[in-house]
Amino acid sequence: MVSNAKLRRWAIAFLLGLSLVIIGGELLIEKIAIFGFHDIVDVDNPQQKLPQRPEFAADYRIDQFEELLRELVERGYWFLSSQDLYNYYYKQPVDPLPIIYKTRPKVMITIDDGYRDAHLNVLPLLERLYRETGEKITVVWFVNSSFMGVPGTYLEHASCEELREGVMRGYYDIQSHGANHENLTLISDEDVDKEVRRSQQELRDCLAGLEGTETVANHLSYPFGAIDDNALEIVKTYHQSGYLYNTRSLRLTPFRNPHFIPRQTVNRNTSVGRLLRLAAGGWF
Ligand SMILES: [Zn+2]
Repeated sequence: MVSNAKLRRWAIAFLLGLSLVIIGGELLIEKIAIFGFHDIVDVDNPQQKLPQRPEFAADYRIDQFEELLRELVERGYWFLSSQDLYNYYYKQPVDPLPIIYKTRPKVMITIDDGYRDAHLNVLPLLERLYRETGEKITVVWFVNSSFMGVPGTYLEHASCEELREGVMRGYYDIQSHGANHENLTLISDEDVDKEVRRSQQELRDCLAGLEGTETVANHLSYPFGAIDDNALEIVKTYHQSGYLYNTRSLRLTPFRNPHFIPRQTVNRNTSVGRLLRLAAGGWF
């Protein structure tokens, strides 16, 4: 007869063993952090802080953004474009990773909604970092095509010309965030079709004639991070991949799906240290 106490000990040992296997497996899975920023503000500029401009939870400060980028450059990160991520990690079959990137840690910086202050603060920073470090950082912009150059209720949006400037200088990767930031799960099929088709076309029109823009608006970040089966069927006819906003890093398992690419959320309280830990594959 096996005593209850013995059974309990075996059960505990089994569960401990199982957790070690799971944790060990998790540690072996390569992860890529895709950071999702919104507006990026300069608090030394009175126009970009209270009382001139309201504060939003999703704001991030340009000095912290700079600290993050400098550290990532220092640590040898490769800043993926949306097409890089698709080609090297999702396409069937995937393109082989170029040797020079194989051993480098990977990260992706994305900025949603196309706010003008973010553009005005980020572009000069990317140029300065290029001059100082020789690293040309790619930033992925998920833009609402109908809002380009339009003053929003509170915040202005970058114009087509401004975004073109960033593309021409070689830093911006322009992708879609829908035409009008509609929640794709709450509108009719016809409207989903209109939202994604129109945004793709307008963004491509905006960047027409520029070099290296054949990948413009191939990819979409779902407004509000919201997508369902129905909307996805339509999205797939226009976009090779789709991005969520779900506080997860991309885990490079065989089960990944190009239309459910996870992103790490970033807000005003997210420290640079936390972002660096996430980029390094940490959980917290
Ligand atoms: Zn958005």
